[in-house]
Amino acid sequence: MPAASPSASADQIVERDHAYVVRNYGRYPLVVSRGEGVRLVGADGRKYLDFMSGIGVMALGHSHPAVIAVIRDQLGTLMHCSNLYYHSLQGEVAEQLAALSGLQRAFFCNSGAEAVEAALKIAKGRGRAIDQAKTEIVALENSFGGRTLGAIAVTGQAKYREPFEPLIPGVRFVPPNDVAALEAAVGERTAGIIFEPILGEGGIIEVSEEFARAARKLASESEALLICDEIQCGLGRTGERFAYHHWGADYLPDVVTVAKPMGAGLPIGAVICSESASRALGPGMHGSTFGGGALACRVAREFLGMLPDLIPRVKQVSAYFRGRLLELAARHGFVSGLRGRGLMVGVELTVPGGGFVPMAQEAGLLINCTAGNVLRMLPPFIITREHADEAVGILDSIFQNGVPE
Ligand SMILES: *Cc1c(COP(=O)(O)O)cnc(C)c1O
Repeated sequence: MPAASPSASADQIVERDHAYVVRNYGRYPLVVSRGEGVRLVGADGRKYLDFMSGIGVMALGHSHPAVIAVIRDQLGTLMHCSNLYYHSLQGEVAEQLAALSGLQRAFFCNSGAEAVEAALKIAKGRGRAIDQAKTEIVALENSFGGRTLGAIAVTGQAKYREPFEPLIPGVRFVPPNDVAALEAAVGERTAGIIFEPILGEGGIIEVSEEFARAARKLASESEALLICDEIQCGLGRTGERFAYHHWGADYLPDVVTVAKPMGAGLPIGAVICSESASRALGPGMHGSTFGGGALACRVAREFLGMLPDLIPRVKQVSAYFRGRLLELAARHGFVSGLRGRGLMVGVELTVPGGGFVPMAQEAGLLINCTAGNVLRMLPPFIITREHADEAVGILDSIFQNGVPE
């Protein structure tokens, strides 16, 4: 192999990756060298409109000056000191999350899957404190909770679960928006009901208000915790602080998981929970070496501080973008609808969508495809109408060529 060097060619970079990195990702043929605002720059210098934004992570875009400034400042102050000691930032970010969510306390981790794990421990720990047999979890078919063993146990997609069974027992899956199935699944043994208010990996499927309210009622009646997984749809993505806010100001889960955009690119996740749910985790019952580190919390504080100003912007630009995307449905017969809310966008097709992804990349737009026929876009919150027009123009031109083989 050639020596590692910043000027390695794209081919050399791919070759080394294939030789030494575990082959668990099917990557697209793009070597990224830099990020600038809403664009990624390829190794060949070509610029791409990044409407995946690191799978919903880079909500502020790439190389945002405020993010760079706080990272620089924090690096010279304190990067990490473990959870053996206090630092000022964890409490500050927890207070911000409480204010944004309407809940009381936060536990910090480093990823979405870890947030789901912590939420499951809270639900099971609290359930067992009520009754030894109260350990079951109800989750949704087509859901996604992350890749750790606990998170795949509540992921309603067999392809993620089956290679690693047996998983934690006592998980029941119900179809999204099937209130009767939910009523049948929830009972005395239920410790928690977990769902994404808008299923992301499952194909941008919105949970109905009727289903969400039924889940809230059933959880309360059966003393189970209601857990909203807002890792993809939360923190401004849909034009509200949390996607559950679309169901009205009175709607409140017991536990909320967040991660993706929270650290503007640094790994950080959290479980936000009610005072009573939080009591399930006493000293020593859960933890994370890196969780709530000073550097990640500093960036999270910056991002969460900017959120109130970003949300109206997300609302406005997403309304415009969605209107333009609807024109595509009118122009191309195989575009059957628009899914999601705000800047969590699924363009639903009547044909397989995977073939359009490389075509869009070739034309300068980065998107992906979920559930086989839904083109997904999770653009940065800072996109303008011009960026939206550019993306729609590219989609229009590749749709013009008809359906790829
Ligand atoms: C991405 C995602 C996860 C997992 O997050 P990781 O950071 O990849 O562990 C969990 N739930 C939802 C809804 C997600 O979109």
